Amino acid sequence: MSSSDIQITPIKQSKINSVDFNNLVFGTVFSDYMFECDYKDGKWQTPVIKPYGDISISPSARVFHYGQAVFEGMKAYKDDNDDIFLFRPEENFVRINKSSERLAIPEFPKEYFFDGLTTLLNLDKDWIKKGIGNSMYIRPFVIATQPAISASPSEEYKFMILLSPAQAYYAGEVRVIFSEKYSRAADGGVGFAKAAGNYAAQFYPTKLAHEKGYQQIIWTDASSHQFLEEAGTMNIFFRIGDTLLTAPNNDRILDGVTRKSVIQLAKDNNIEVEVRRVSVVEIKDAARKGTLKEIFGSGTATVINPILGFSHGGKEYELPTVENSYASFFKEKLMNIQYNISEDPYGWRVKI
Ligand SMILES: *Cc1c(COP(=O)(O)O)cnc(C)c1O
Repeated sequence: MSSSDIQITPIKQSKINSVDFNNLVFGTVFSDYMFECDYKDGKWQTPVIKPYGDISISPSARVFHYGQAVFEGMKAYKDDNDDIFLFRPEENFVRINKSSERLAIPEFPKEYFFDGLTTLLNLDKDWIKKGIGNSMYIRPFVIATQPAISASPSEEYKFMILLSPAQAYYAGEVRVIFSEKYSRAADGGVGFAKAAGNYAAQFYPTKLAHEKGYQQIIWTDASSHQFLEEAGTMNIFFRIGDTLLTAPNNDRILDGVTRKSVIQLAKDNNIEVEVRRVSVVEIKDAARKGTLKEIFGSGTATVINPILGFSHGGKEYELPTVENSYASFFKEKLMNIQYNISEDPYGWRVKI
């Protein structure tokens, strides 16, 4: 398959002039086109690209009843020469198929993924704005479309890619609460997958956290609630003294592309990094002693998101303001690679 095999239905008129690119609300504006590929009769059909718009599916489609759905989140960046780049896109491709496998969804072919994505980005390239912080958020996803409400895997699916222009994401002052009751994922479960249901299950506990004045929950392990694992849509890092700590990957943790990039950058910049279980007790101890210097989340949407304070067991802990913050260091390093400002010794940046 080559991109010429994708059937393209042209738009009648672009919506681009109706969009205020300086006041984008994350994830609410979509570009002119979308990519779509259906799975039926045991194979993925010829993909199409068509104007962004509503799709028609049966109300008995299995996705509505059993949540058989997975997604990805990635970004495209434009440099000063109008060249467009992706960041480690292979990782997202591999991960969506890993997620799919866990949800009994058939694997999506690599050529379709990359030809579809590059053709789509080229059609909508004017929607990708220059300037640090501006990007095109890319949302590939797969849903089970077979109209049948028996609880078994679908025999029909729809794979789509949507593009949503984004500005630098400022999450505001983030205070978090360490979870003592609710869990995000369990051993043997689907926590490592970007499965739609994982996020639905977080909404209620997160709503309770909001009511108490915290922006996010830091998820602890489901059995003891003694180890800090995930921020829910971000991976989580702690800095004690000058050492960076983060939980090891397992089937409860999403294997973040930003997370693995931070670990690599730490290793190559003489920052000691320990990938091991991080306990609530040691973080609280370090906070009391003043050796806990930073907590930050990592993820495609926000890149690096500093956390100002946390709560556990009814007590509040504040993080100090540090000079030479690791959060700022990694954010700058990553963005310089993403926006083609610095050298990329890793080959993470892929020009399209
Ligand atoms: C997507 C996601 C992340 C971050 O992954 P990136 O590949 O860095 O964007 C972290 N945790 C969860 C639960 C996620 O869904």
